[in-house]
Amino acid sequence: MDFSLSEEHLMIQEAARDFAQNELLPGVIERDDNQQFPAEQVKKMGELGFLGMMVDPKYLGSGMDTMSYVIAMEELSKVDASSSVIVSVNNSLVCYGLETYGTEEQKEKYLKRLASGEIIGAFCLSEPEAGSDATSQKTTAIDKGNHYVINGTKNWITNGNTASVYLVIAQTDREKGHKGINALIVEKGMPGFEIGPKENKLGIRGSDTHSLIFNDVKVPKENRIGEDGFGFKFAMKTLSGGRIGIAAQALGIAAGAYELALKYSKERKAFGTEISNHQAIAFKLADMHTQIQAARHLVYKAAWDKDQGNNYDLSGAMAKLYASQVAMETTVEAVQIHGGNGFVKDYHVERLMRDAKITQIYEGTSEIQKIVISRSILRD
Ligand SMILES: Cc1cc2nc3c(=O)[nH]c(=O)nc-3n(C[C@H](O)[C@H](O)[C@H](O)COP(=O)(O)OP(=O)(O)OC[C@H]3O[C@@H](n4cnc5c(N)ncnc54)[C@H](O)[C@@H]3O)c2cc1C
Repeated sequence: MDFSLSEEHLMIQEAARDFAQNELLPGVIERDDNQQFPAEQVKKMGELGFLGMMVDPKYLGSGMDTMSYVIAMEELSKVDASSSVIVSVNNSLVCYGLETYGTEEQKEKYLKRLASGEIIGAFCLSEPEAGSDATSQKTTAIDKGNHYVINGTKNWITNGNTASVYLVIAQTDREKGHKGINALIVEKGMPGFEIGPKENKLGIRGSDTHSLIFNDVKVPKENRIGEDGFGFKFAMKTLSGGRIGIAAQALGIAAGAYELALKYSKERKAFGTEISNHQAIAFKLADMHTQIQAARHLVYKAAWDKDQGNNYDLSGAMAKLYASQVAMETTVEAVQIHGGNGFVKDYHVERLMRDAKITQIYEGTSEIQKIVISRSILRD
């Protein structure tokens, strides 16, 4: 067993760290305040290959492994989780879904532009009445021979207004239950496709979350991903890998807050000494460091499983469950270590604390991860 990172992984880590410090950090507080989408930053991330990291170079991706992806996600998320969720959705849900299950024509038409960062994509599963219970899809995609007609509403969609391509999960044959669901590629601007208002969120406020409304949207049959009825399986398979990306995001938020708290504890003085000399603070740092390292091992293990071709449903769910819990606990403690300064925006930790919460909710809540984990261990 080798715990060291390869030369290539170290280079990616350094590149992502430099990008986060030089390009994401400036203006991150203002973007959060104003709910401003990081358009310029996303463009640059596309140019650097961060938006199609695992995609084959023949489809204009960077051809890297999942380990590289989680390493980059951690570094970007230390500074700006609003930007890293865009990276995560585009890589693990949209590009992965199209590359693995799409037709050659779909890859030529859509994947190349998505992987190169020319455009970004969105993954549209959740509905007002179908979140954790994703089988209860109310959005319909009725088969009309050479096309489908979509009607319904999706909500909470990341990149909702900024995406150009949307992978939409909808029910074609209700009688067949989850085997009657399809995944369709919808383009922005298709007649009848409307974008609802932006959500005003607790965290990841720079990311662009919208509901989407479909009124008789005609989608050609060649835009269906996989066989008829493959849509639910497509969503579950894709989300299983997506969880590894969100676990890495949670890890990064935790590590970013810890690094800020560590630095602050060595500078801030109280009772005539740096606060890190008070054991109560030093022990908090010890706990944070240990938990983050444990989370990192789980994230790396899940990424390694994916790279080895092993099943990663269990390791990905465990990584997301634990890393998101560590993100929440660590960011709360980082605010505490900063005292009053932790409560104001300039010190970044309050934003990281707000951002941490979403990692316990999207791409399967913590309760859903426990269902996945417990089913897996009880089955074995
Ligand atoms: C900022 C943001 C971005 C998002 N981005 C996307 C996106 O890009 N695409 C997309 O499709 N969706 C997206 N989502 C939706 C997200 O995935 C859902 O919010 C999430 O899956 C939970 O669904 P829900 O909100 O309907 O909660 P519910 O399913 O109503 O859950 C409410 C509570 O009940 C618990 N619960 C539900 N069922 C069970 C059960 N069987 N056992 C135990 N507890 C249970 C849940 O864990 C939760 O605590 C996003 C959400 C947010 C907030």
